[in-house]
Amino acid sequence: MSNPQTEQWQTLSRQHHLAPFTDYQALNRKGARIITKASGVYLWDSEGHKILDGMAGLWCVNVGYGREELVEAAAAQMRELPYYNLFFQTAHPPALELAQEIAQLAPEGLDHVFFTGSGSEANDTVLRMVRHYWATLGQPDKQVVIGRWNGYHGSTIAGASLGGMKGMHAQGGLPIPGIEHIDQPYWYGEGGDMTPEDFGVWAAEQLEKKILDVGEGRVAAFIAEPIQGAGGVIVPPDSYWPKVREILAKYDILFVADEVICGFGRTGEWFGSQYYDLKPDLMPIAKGLTSGYIPMGGVVVHERVVKVLDRGGEFAHGFTYSGHPVAAAVALANIRLLKREGIVTQVKTQTAPYLQQRWRELAEHPLVGEARGVGLVAAIELVKNKETRERYSGLEVGMRCREHCFANGLVMRAVGDTMIIAPPLVINKEEIDELIDKARTCLDLTV
Ligand code: PLP
Repeated sequence: MSNPQTEQWQTLSRQHHLAPFTDYQALNRKGARIITKASGVYLWDSEGHKILDGMAGLWCVNVGYGREELVEAAAAQMRELPYYNLFFQTAHPPALELAQEIAQLAPEGLDHVFFTGSGSEANDTVLRMVRHYWATLGQPDKQVVIGRWNGYHGSTIAGASLGGMKGMHAQGGLPIPGIEHIDQPYWYGEGGDMTPEDFGVWAAEQLEKKILDVGEGRVAAFIAEPIQGAGGVIVPPDSYWPKVREILAKYDILFVADEVICGFGRTGEWFGSQYYDLKPDLMPIAKGLTSGYIPMGGVVVHERVVKVLDRGGEFAHGFTYSGHPVAAAVALANIRLLKREGIVTQVKTQTAPYLQQRWRELAEHPLVGEARGVGLVAAIELVKNKETRERYSGLEVGMRCREHCFANGLVMRAVGDTMIIAPPLVINKEEIDELIDKARTCLDLTV
């Protein structure tokens, strides 16, 4: 260690800090890697190593690091009005202007925004809102929400229950009642002998099966990410979403498209719902809304839902920091920057086609069974046998690959044996080349 402060920070980590999603014994053995600064698509650790951030933090730093105008927006808003709430019939300009900006970008009819502090709070809001909606319509039995195994909707009690991460359910007795799960549209891992298209229809039909099991009149909503992110970048077969939409319409069930990762340009459209033509009733958002510069989330709600909520009396729900003025000012600056620099179009027309083409070259590597992705989000599956898709057992091959990446200056995340990336949307072609070269080197080291 060249920097004496690194050890001091690691000691603080051991003595005082409890990190999220962390095995504390493992962290204490190794010591946390301390990230001290960032610029563009790069991070630097306390030892001075430069690291290409292939995950945009946690899928959120869409405009890249070091954007002065977001800093200025926060400072100016702090001077003007650092805090006020949206409770009890008050409002403030940044939240109102932001709601309008989001409504203009969202699919048609999604014209209203309920602000939260995070994606998890957005999904807590969703659960209460869809139940309140059906109760207001005089159908209080429509209370069950269906999610998907391996889906991720956050870490609060409701978010983790809506999500289908079995490891999370095992801690703390989740899911809470009234939430059901169906299989994910994960063709490579679970499609067996089916073609992707047949499997997509099969996976969608699991929704209908579940609706009939639960009882037609009892299902309030279906929640899903357009592309499952934390579950391993599960890109659904083309046949999946059209069939899901058909089933939801048949049984009059609300559709919640969780846009926390896909929103704000990740797929090359402003929202994943536009990429897949999803027409949701509610869209939880967070992450790219502020490019992670400050916490903020929200639920974008369709006019037809709001018309019902308007009749429901007080919606007894909200957070101290709902629509926080400083966060709203940063989000506005972030969206204006995305627009001014044409970043979403640039993803669609230039960087996504290039990244996806180069990423698929990794499928030639002996360790890679499949390379897939959409926009600037992608995954590779690590396998022992490409033909049979047999996995390495017990070797934690994904974790080893992740460690090699980190040691060689690349953040790539491991979800079991699936390696995933979601770089800042401002990544350029040279940086994509660097990402691919580093990924290949790390795969070589992992074999
Ligand atoms: N929904 C999705 C799709 C997510 O990926 C996440 C976080 O990764 C969340 C919700 C939860 O967001 P947050 O961590 O801001 O609570």
